[in-house]
Amino acid sequence: MKKIAKIKGMNDFEGELSLKLSNFIETVSQIVQKYGYTYIKTPHVEETALYKRSVGDSSDVVNKEMYNFIDKGENDICLRPEGTAGVVRSYIESGYDKQNNKKRYYYYGEMYRYERPQKGRYREFLQFGCESFGSGSSYEDTTMLVMVCEILDSLGISYTLELNSIGDSAFRTNYINDILKPFLVENIDHICSDCKTRKDTNPIRVFDCKNSSCQEVYKKVTKLTDALDSSSKLEFETILKRLDRLNIRYIINKNLVRGLDYYNSLVFEFTTDELGAQGTLVGGGRYDSLVSTLGGNSTQAVGFAMGIDRLLQLMEDGCNARDGIYFGCLDSDALEPIYDTIYSNKQEIKTYLEYKPKSHTKHISTADKLNFKYCCIVSSDDITASNIRVKNLLTKDEQTYSSISEIRYD
Ligand code: AMP
Repeated sequence: MKKIAKIKGMNDFEGELSLKLSNFIETVSQIVQKYGYTYIKTPHVEETALYKRSVGDSSDVVNKEMYNFIDKGENDICLRPEGTAGVVRSYIESGYDKQNNKKRYYYYGEMYRYERPQKGRYREFLQFGCESFGSGSSYEDTTMLVMVCEILDSLGISYTLELNSIGDSAFRTNYINDILKPFLVENIDHICSDCKTRKDTNPIRVFDCKNSSCQEVYKKVTKLTDALDSSSKLEFETILKRLDRLNIRYIINKNLVRGLDYYNSLVFEFTTDELGAQGTLVGGGRYDSLVSTLGGNSTQAVGFAMGIDRLLQLMEDGCNARDGIYFGCLDSDALEPIYDTIYSNKQEIKTYLEYKPKSHTKHISTADKLNFKYCCIVSSDDITASNIRVKNLLTKDEQTYSSISEIRYD
């Protein structure tokens, strides 16, 4: 019969990769919990309108990449393309916006975008994100950056932190009308067809264009960063000075505008040049108007999302270390007493019991292949003689115990 293959752009996580993933979630969760973030899980599907209103109709995510469909109840629903909108929806539905409640959440899980699959860009991918509600202080922005640095450092990943300030939406509207659009109209013959479309749909996205001849043209226009009003400028400079004091290295990237519509003021990305074209590892920023855009009381907020698939590619295979104990029996009479002793006690370490009696050599070779640290091969005579030998497959040392329940690990 014809085999069924997985869906294009979606991946299995198995073996070493799944171990890396669980290590990642554990390590990163522990770090963000130290900063006061608590776990939130929202559904994988939401009303399509949620993303249209938050991420923005003109963004690529909504325009081209949504996995939306009409369900059996005629509802227009969507597999989540990102995590922030669902968390904001939940914050509002819980009524926290009414109490101006400070909340710090973290989430992780699958996101879905119908993109052209390539290395580092998938249709089902994983993100780990944090959202902080109720603080407009730039201290909150910098603490978030410090936290992401700690995460990446602890995973052994090197990165560049890129920052920009894009002002609020009223400022951007003025900037677009007074500076950017007239410039684009004047230079219309020198920009690519995508940028011509962006001019009408979402002009500031022209700065994202990968086309080097477009970038040459944009060198001549005043950037958002340089047009900021004095208080936004001062706030951005305050953030930069604070990062300097904390010895956090960054570059200012005036072309950084981010693809999702809801950001204002500080935006940031952590990038690498080790992954070719898909070099953005983390993206985030302030989104002070999203809670009200989604119908809540105005609540300031800042957040980020990191691409787990890309980070796992950069992480060393730290999961190769031997661990756990392998039990094997030499004759079938030994199986039952070994089984009863192991499973009537709580396991101190990872434990595996091979049910099939085999020779000593065969057991050792399987335990070795499965990467166990300890190996205990027992016959019924050994049990009667209280002679239980445990071999450390790393050091080759052997210890003898009077029973399986006596075994101790270093
Ligand atoms: P975004 O929500 O677009 O700001 O993305 C945040 C991060 O998620 C990016 O920096 C990437 O690391 C990751 N990411 C976004 N889209 C994809 C994708 N299609 N496949 C894999 N990772 C992705």
